[in-house]
Amino acid sequence: MHPARRRHYLEAIGIDLWQSRAPARTARAPGTGGAELATEWEALREEVLKCTRCPLHATRTQGVFGVGPRRADWLVIGEAPGAEEDRRGEPFVGVAGQLLDAMLRAIGLDRKSNVYIANVLKSRPPGNRDPKPEEVAACLPYLVRQIALLQPKIMLAVGRIAAQNLLATDAPLARLRGRVHYFGERDTPLIVTYHPAYLLRTPADKRKAWEDLKFARSVYQQLSQGTAIDGNRA
Ligand code: URA
Repeated sequence: MHPARRRHYLEAIGIDLWQSRAPARTARAPGTGGAELATEWEALREEVLKCTRCPLHATRTQGVFGVGPRRADWLVIGEAPGAEEDRRGEPFVGVAGQLLDAMLRAIGLDRKSNVYIANVLKSRPPGNRDPKPEEVAACLPYLVRQIALLQPKIMLAVGRIAAQNLLATDAPLARLRGRVHYFGERDTPLIVTYHPAYLLRTPADKRKAWEDLKFARSVYQQLSQGTAIDGNRA
């Protein structure tokens, strides 16, 4: 990435310090192509969009399945659609989404080319309240099936709700950041960082989020090079 453009992205996140590193390389996850997978993916999308498993279906405008290329190495997972996402049917398209896009661009990621973005909940909780445990219980299996089809190389959980539900823990975000977790049967490396909406309210923590992003990028680089993963942030 051109240094001036990189600086622009970092400024957009609100960070002006930059340490030069090679941008993340992208590679296709094996086994994610083929007509069968495409059919399964479309069937899952339809199921999600028609879902009535929890009462949120009655108040949502539409289900929000996810966005990005199905062959992306990276998967970012947030909490639930907000008002704008509910209206447009795409995750992270409001103000927090703009910050998320800037954060991702700073490590060479873009929802149009190399990162898939989804949420724990596919329907908007009214008033943007936290998801209820029964809503998560109803919806999480969809995300698990999405992940099984996507086969990402690395996952980034943004915010406490996503991190705690994916890792089945009550541990606070502060304890979950800074190390590599592993998700599911494929032991997909998972890194935890702040939710962009939180960063908008607490810009002083953007620098810590940037440390998380650099950490995630270095884990991805280690994976791509086939070297052993250093499981803790320096
Ligand atoms: N916050 C989330 O967690 N997800 C979205 O899609 C939008 C806002």
